[in-house]
Amino acid sequence: MSVFTDTAFDDHERVLFCSDAKTGLQAIIAIHSTALGPAAGGCRMWNYASDAEALHDVLRLSQGMSYKNAMAGLHFGGGKAVIMKTSDFNGSDALFERFGNFVDTLNGDYITAEDVGMTVQIMQTIARTTKHVTGLPTAGGKAGGDPSPKTAFGIFCGIEAAARFKLDRHDVSGLSVAVQGVGHVGYHLCKLLVEAGASLKVADIDDARVQRICDEFGATGVAPDEILYQSVDILAPCALGAILNRTTIPKLQTAIIAGGANNQLETLEDGQRLADAGILYAPDYVINGGGIINVACEYDGDIGDEGVTQLVAEIGPRLTGIFEEAARKGEPTNVIADAQARQIIAAAD
Ligand code: NAD
Repeated sequence: MSVFTDTAFDDHERVLFCSDAKTGLQAIIAIHSTALGPAAGGCRMWNYASDAEALHDVLRLSQGMSYKNAMAGLHFGGGKAVIMKTSDFNGSDALFERFGNFVDTLNGDYITAEDVGMTVQIMQTIARTTKHVTGLPTAGGKAGGDPSPKTAFGIFCGIEAAARFKLDRHDVSGLSVAVQGVGHVGYHLCKLLVEAGASLKVADIDDARVQRICDEFGATGVAPDEILYQSVDILAPCALGAILNRTTIPKLQTAIIAGGANNQLETLEDGQRLADAGILYAPDYVINGGGIINVACEYDGDIGDEGVTQLVAEIGPRLTGIFEEAARKGEPTNVIADAQARQIIAAAD
């Protein structure tokens, strides 16, 4: 495993390898940039095939967080952590406390939160050993808690913006949406879409989660390996990354891709492939910024929950601006978003 030659290495400021034999913790924390402020980004707990795969993931995700935080107008840089679910992983409180110790050694240069595989309860355990943790329960209208409802709300606003731009529709009523992954974000997104009159096709590798969405929201369950290729108005990837690539894109049957998963494009060129196929792509780190806006407001403690909702709603107009610029310049939306994000970070450096 090599850091500097990994294709996802992008002059990251710091990479911390966290290993603790006593608890079995194996984790990596990557700080991509602190130009805009302390690096904020969630912690993913996943069953990686190898250390190299985990490293690649955390490098990619942390760079994405720099772009995401910049585009969300936050005074936070980009960082991310991964905890590896190794074969003898036990998920004990001691393991998460130890992870908190490692976060704490960074003295606030990295602030953690929930990502795939994590829960509010785990964040509370991590908070025993570091104060640089968010996504904790709050009360009295304060910002905080599980960020996924706000992530989903931002995606919903982004879907409406995309439907206006691409389909000339004022709302999503009557539109069909395929949702890949109905975990935290996917669940809340499905709820918002159904309340707004959309019809749903959903898939997850966890059958019980699909069943819940079908029962609660009248969705149709689809096999995980078929969900991407449904003939729908909108595809909302809300599971893992790299699902849009040279193999999957030619088989897509959707007008719009707008979902919460991080790093949906396997390569930069896949944005061009989508544009060539006439599919409008909402850049992932712009549309899924609602959760990190919630996290940032929780950490700062100066804006309440209603204020967070207003900030998250700005994701809609922000995406419209990207769609318009992409159309004007004849460039893919991901290229436009990347250029905007890099400009914001460079201006602060
Ligand atoms: P989660 O773990 O709660 O849900 C992910 C779901 O995807 C799970 O139900 C899992 O079984 C399913 N899944 C995994 N592989 C799949 C596959 N091949 N096909 C179908 N389903 C599959 O995670 P989450 O918090 O909902 O996050 C979902 C995505 O959104 C991730 O990419 C995450 O990085 C991104 N994201 C999350 C937040 C947040 O606030 N939680 C914020 C921004 C971005």
